[in-house]
Amino acid sequence: MTTAIEADGLTKRYGRRTVVDHVSFDVPAGTVCGLVGPNGAGKTTVMSMLLGLVRPTEGHARLLGQPVGGRRANPVGALIEAPAFHAALSGRANLTQLAILGRHDRRAVEATLETVGLAERADDRYRTYSLGMKQRLGIAAALLADPAIVILDEPTNGVDPQGMRDIRGLIGRIAREDRTVLVSSHLLAELEHVCDHLVVLDHGGCRFAGPIGGLRGERTQLVARTTDA
Ligand code: ATP
Repeated sequence: MTTAIEADGLTKRYGRRTVVDHVSFDVPAGTVCGLVGPNGAGKTTVMSMLLGLVRPTEGHARLLGQPVGGRRANPVGALIEAPAFHAALSGRANLTQLAILGRHDRRAVEATLETVGLAERADDRYRTYSLGMKQRLGIAAALLADPAIVILDEPTNGVDPQGMRDIRGLIGRIAREDRTVLVSSHLLAELEHVCDHLVVLDHGGCRFAGPIGGLRGERTQLVARTTDA
């Protein structure tokens, strides 16, 4: 099986503080991997290193065999911070602007609106969307370039239960389109039903990395540690 995401000893230090400490994991292509850990565990920093937005202090990452930060553009779409959508424009108009800016095929706008389940609300203004719908529009933006790998940082954070179910369903659909998804949350319970693999971070260190079935006995302990408590 092809490896889509390889993190090899990823480490990030800010001054004398180590915020990500030798984190290694592999994500097979076409699977969903959850990146779970409490606030401040290092999830966003790991994702930023995978995206080439933050340079590792040590270690390296590859996406579909290509080194991150190398010359070739990596085949990745991401939702890592709230996209700058215009409140007064419709979902479709917002996505169309991004498609033009990114020189993506305009047909991708309609296809991604369909994929994220916003086709029927596409002409409504962004400001009328629920948080879950806003997140799904952000995911649509990440899908515009038809990436093989999709990285989503806490897409369900603050979203109501129905919105969470919608996003989880969407993650499953994205993976069934032969894409690889890395998705973070501070709650294991929020992600475990949609993930094939799991990486658990705590204080920058990797506490578990592997197929979700391998968790078993450790699950209770991890659920307790990866809650808002
Ligand atoms: P959250 O769920 O709160 O977003 P997280 O697991 O995504 O948390 P990170 O955002 O990766 O965690 O942050 C990990 C640690 O690194 C935090 O303590 C944060 O304060 C610190 N950190 C992140 N970026 C920087 C920076 N540019 N300079 C200094 N410290 C940073």
